[in-house]
Amino acid sequence: MTMLSVVVAAALMPMPRSVEMRGGTVAATGEVRIVESRDAAIAAEGYRIEIDGSGVKVFASGAAGFFRARTTLGQLAEDGRWPCCRIEDAPTFQWRGLMLDEGRHFFGKETVKALLDQMAEYKLNVFHWHLTEDQGWRLAVDRFPELVEYGAVRPESPAHGCTGAPWDYRGNGVRYGPYFYTAADVREILAYAKERFISVVPEVEMPGHVRALLAAHPEFACRGGLPRTPRTMNDIEEDVLCAGNDAAIRFLEQVYDEVCALFPGAYIHIGGDECPKKRWKECPKCQARIKALGLKDEDALQAWLTRHFTDYLAKKGRRAIGWDEVLAGDPGVETVVHCWREAKYGIAAAEKGHGVVVSSLASTYFSVPQGVKDDPFDYLGPNRRCSLATAYSFNPLDGMTDAAKARVLGAECCMWSECVWNEYDLAWKLWPRACAFAEAVWTAPAAPRDFEGFKRRMDVQRCCLIAAGVNCAPVE
Ligand SMILES: [Zn+2]
Repeated sequence: MTMLSVVVAAALMPMPRSVEMRGGTVAATGEVRIVESRDAAIAAEGYRIEIDGSGVKVFASGAAGFFRARTTLGQLAEDGRWPCCRIEDAPTFQWRGLMLDEGRHFFGKETVKALLDQMAEYKLNVFHWHLTEDQGWRLAVDRFPELVEYGAVRPESPAHGCTGAPWDYRGNGVRYGPYFYTAADVREILAYAKERFISVVPEVEMPGHVRALLAAHPEFACRGGLPRTPRTMNDIEEDVLCAGNDAAIRFLEQVYDEVCALFPGAYIHIGGDECPKKRWKECPKCQARIKALGLKDEDALQAWLTRHFTDYLAKKGRRAIGWDEVLAGDPGVETVVHCWREAKYGIAAAEKGHGVVVSSLASTYFSVPQGVKDDPFDYLGPNRRCSLATAYSFNPLDGMTDAAKARVLGAECCMWSECVWNEYDLAWKLWPRACAFAEAVWTAPAAPRDFEGFKRRMDVQRCCLIAAGVNCAPVE
């Protein structure tokens, strides 16, 4: 490599599969012709770039590949010139996701669009939009306006400097909301994502994490007397949807009808995590359902519910995806499993025959500190760590047999927002770790890992992010 090529390649993120520098440069201006040609042999989103004295040739099998190639060309240009080179590239995983929780804190349309720009820059292609939580319901549903009337506003939030868990709760006394997205907002964001070849997976949680729903419809809880407001504390909520109440199930079907009408993507996330069974154990309706269906226990009741909504969505041509707790009680392999706790749950799901998306509490949860010096932000788990090196070494296929690997659709990094108050806080926690994740799911695990090289390229990208107003944390 010439000195110049070293400098130029230093901006590439994620690193393409193969970069061959050929010496010399051409002007990266309007005078240089970029010729795009179809090549059906190239994988979806993959591309080939050839730059020489005669100009720039780009090959791809479809529009997504040409789009990813243009992103690479943007990163390749330096001082108005491109290096003569040949790049061959294609993603390892088809599902390279980023999840944003807008239930705990709401960021709004402009922050989401900026995030979609950042995702596109690093070739992430699935925006998992966590829209409903105990602490807030953020999606207007035409047929049920009370969902945002009661669910999108809460009397206060946990104060700065505490985790907000029941044993550490101090409220800030500041009303939060109403904050939610209208159908028009959603359409605008979907169009923005589509232009960037990013698909959107909405998440409407059940049967746990529904306190904001229960604020609007307390009759769908197992017990009476719930306040008409979402939860303000963090940690796990014990009041969940009553699985023995037919009206509650019909209601959710109608909510999913609207979600499906609004979101055109193939996948609908139905949550399924952290559903304590305490209320179900005490509830006559839930117990009657268990008896009537001959179910073994409350886990089997959740599995019955998961199967019900998986089938319901399948009739509409959609696939249901749920967090790995849905595996308890064996819901059937049609439900895609989103592993998050430990790799063993993803491995078990894949071996059973489920499609699997892999997240990792240890390696892709960016709501915990990355361990940089002088970190000014609050965290839900202040003593936990997910360092940049840990994020970079993430491999969704770790510990899997070849048969199990074949069922892995891809992976996601997650941003839970209990302690994320605004876009500056959000950006600090996401970057640079989301770049490490992006490279781990685009180039790796087949390519050799070079963390030092990654960090050098990340220094360049951090300057780009900061120039674009993104509060990227230091690369340490
Ligand atoms: Zn019940």
